[in-house]
Amino acid sequence: MFENLSERLSGVFDRLTKQGALSEDDVKTALREVRVALLEADVSLPVARDFVKAVQDKATGQAVTKSVTPGQQVVKIVHDALIDVLKGEGEPGALKIDNPPAPILMVGLQGGGKTTTTAKLAKRLKEKEGKRVLMASLDVNRPAAMEQLAILGQQIGVDTLPIVKGEDPVAITLRAKTQAGLGGYDVYMLDTAGRLSIDEELMAQVEAVRDVVNPRETLLVVDGLTGQDAVHTAENFDERIGITGVVLTRMDGDGRGGAALSMRAVTGKPIKFVGLGEKMDALETFEPERIAGRILG
Ligand code: GDP
Repeated sequence: MFENLSERLSGVFDRLTKQGALSEDDVKTALREVRVALLEADVSLPVARDFVKAVQDKATGQAVTKSVTPGQQVVKIVHDALIDVLKGEGEPGALKIDNPPAPILMVGLQGGGKTTTTAKLAKRLKEKEGKRVLMASLDVNRPAAMEQLAILGQQIGVDTLPIVKGEDPVAITLRAKTQAGLGGYDVYMLDTAGRLSIDEELMAQVEAVRDVVNPRETLLVVDGLTGQDAVHTAENFDERIGITGVVLTRMDGDGRGGAALSMRAVTGKPIKFVGLGEKMDALETFEPERIAGRILG
């Protein structure tokens, strides 16, 4: 369905005579194609526009090396610029979980993959970093969601806070904190309630939970296939709750990954992990190179 960007660009450059440096016109022509490729990859229009402008300034006048065609050269410049935007500061996938027990707040809309990601991340912390993890579900309106976390916990061999009927999210949070301290856990993960869309009640609830534990990390879990919606969700959560990172789920799907670029450009928050399937092992550290390759097609 998508034409490869390199092929497209070589078409554009076929018409150009050999020259020593990329002229402004060459670059403009090529970047028109790049812009289309970004939009097809679901990068938002303002982000695509700003990105292309930055690349244009950088590429114009660059010497073309003999070993590559001007088209390949522009693709390389675009690729490097994509990585610059996608890369957050710090080690990808690293979490601040010193000073045990460290609270990690998991936030996001219903269906984004929050509960699954909570369990995947707990498994990863346990297996890769040898951490003792306690998970607690705060989704008091959806008993099935609480059960789901308990079942996943059993599957992966990670403890979950016992469910007590009638407790509110703040009470559960305080119990998780106490239990994590007494039980010698390194980390306790709070799987907050999800809603179909952002509403005041949800935000107030998450805010109250945040204030009683002062989380070391607040990770927003969003469906990477939802493009612009994912970015809006991130903006909203960041404004109200303050997030420290993003987990993009469903990156195993057909999407081209443009949401990742928009997410970074708009929120400035690091993408820490990507979800690559429903299985408990399908969580990987975010790799800018992989996403850049996918966006360019
Ligand atoms: P929550 O409502 O945000 O807690 O969402 P869930 O964790 O219940 O996930 C909703 C559905 O998405 C479940 O069927 C998950 O198995 C699925 N899911 C979560 N993450 C991924 C992912 O990275 N890839 C795929 N393909 N499915 C996922």
